Amino acid sequence: MAQRTRIGHYIGGEHEAGGDRVGPVFNPATGEQSHDVALASADDVRRAVQVAQDAARAWRETPLAKRADAMFRLRHLLTQHQDELARIVTSEHGKVVSDAAGEVSRGLENVEFATGLLTHLKGDRSEQVARGVDVHQVRQPLGVVACITPFNFPVMVPLWMISTAIAAGNTVVLKPSERDPSAALRLAELFAEAGLPPGVLNVVNGDKEAVDELLDNPTVQAISFVGSTPVAKSVYERAASNGKRVQALGGAKNHMVVMPDADLDAAADAAVSAAYGSAGERCMAVSVLVAVGDIGDDLVDRIRDRVSRLTVGDGTDPASEMGPLITADARERVTSYVAGAADEGATVVVDGREQQFDGDGFFIGVSLVDQVKPGMKVYDDEIFGPVLSVVRVPSYDEAVALVNASDFANGVAIFTRDGKTARAFEFDIEVGMVGVNVPIPVPIGAYSFGGWKQSLFGDTHIYGPESFDFYTRRKVVTTRWPDPSESQINLGFPTH
Ligand code: NAD
Repeated sequence: MAQRTRIGHYIGGEHEAGGDRVGPVFNPATGEQSHDVALASADDVRRAVQVAQDAARAWRETPLAKRADAMFRLRHLLTQHQDELARIVTSEHGKVVSDAAGEVSRGLENVEFATGLLTHLKGDRSEQVARGVDVHQVRQPLGVVACITPFNFPVMVPLWMISTAIAAGNTVVLKPSERDPSAALRLAELFAEAGLPPGVLNVVNGDKEAVDELLDNPTVQAISFVGSTPVAKSVYERAASNGKRVQALGGAKNHMVVMPDADLDAAADAAVSAAYGSAGERCMAVSVLVAVGDIGDDLVDRIRDRVSRLTVGDGTDPASEMGPLITADARERVTSYVAGAADEGATVVVDGREQQFDGDGFFIGVSLVDQVKPGMKVYDDEIFGPVLSVVRVPSYDEAVALVNASDFANGVAIFTRDGKTARAFEFDIEVGMVGVNVPIPVPIGAYSFGGWKQSLFGDTHIYGPESFDFYTRRKVVTTRWPDPSESQINLGFPTH
């Protein structure tokens, strides 16, 4: 058995071992516990927040061009260390290395967007709003912001938040998932190497105790959270009641609608890729395929055929297309949904529980469940595993009604060859991110990312232009330079 190492915190530019309370980190491909991760106490978090607060003034005073320089260097460093970061992710998350490298690439887009901070932080000015009076608006950083991230994208989701938060002049306390915490610590080292002063980016590892302190600490001005819906909702409510700015992105159940005129081979390829990539542990994974009209049997056959050729195995093996789940508990959870689906009246076409794997890794094969309907747990719940449900509906209108009735509204896709249908779908569908013949419509870094309904609490989407709004406060200044001889007393309300 490999020697377990300890993963601590990174505060004020220094690594710290942390206190007595620890949690396990596993290599999901072997099932072996590889590390103990320190779980921060409220005191640890208070100290990290204070360090961030102490660094805030100097970072805010750092010229924009120097901040942009750091972002350019960071971009270069992340590119140089892409494979290393991907391997760290795979060792604790389990996803295949090529997929982990893809997550680093998508995170890079956020750094690239942040390099343009001189443009994004520009203000406005109106001259002569009254005689001799001008008005201008500036964007100022908030101070200390906290970023709380999930296990499924240990590089990309932190970069969604911290790149812009820091570019905008804030200092950060990042609390990554305790299930795969190493990537965040490596990111913090690379930020430091890029020229970030100590205290600007701090990482505390931990669980609910650390999160609660961040939500309650009066020095923390804003919370960016990404995770499951119940936690996102409670984080939003608690932080908002403490007067903080909050964006809390939650879970998902993403539908892919396939119209009868779609190219069924292309739709089957897309469905398999988007449902089973990263073992379905993506917030934009397709988990429900909506077959419109009489294409259901044909589409299910084509998917079954493709699924039979998938290679599931250790993420470090280049032959693997899908790795294990994050924990044994996650595998139990997925197993129970597949087991329950037949009892609920669905048809299990491919049963991932039947695939056998050597060793103790948290592997499960992929599942395809047909004849699924709302009201079944396999449909209603976010499973977050390699399970694709197929719902059959007779018409476009019923497909739209099905999607719009879902509590989750993160991503959705339509596959069609008809532009009029695609345009109608874009107009009708009540979901934050829409793909037309694109199964995973994660916006590029120049747009912002966010779902609707139970998939996002708060009103600002994450990264891109909206993130510069989220991480800055606007201040409006009205200016007049009168001649002292014009000065007079006037108790009336100022008008123009
Ligand atoms: P999670 O909600 O269990 O954990 C997210 C973060 O919250 C972690 O840092 C965790 O330590 C912390 N946390 C967990 N329980 C808490 C509690 N009771 N109180 C306070 N903090 C708590 O989520 P996860 O399992 O790590 O990630 C998977 C979930 O994240 C899925 O639901 C997925 O859809 C969602 N997700 C959403 C998006 C999006 O953009 N909408 C992106 C990625 C992941």
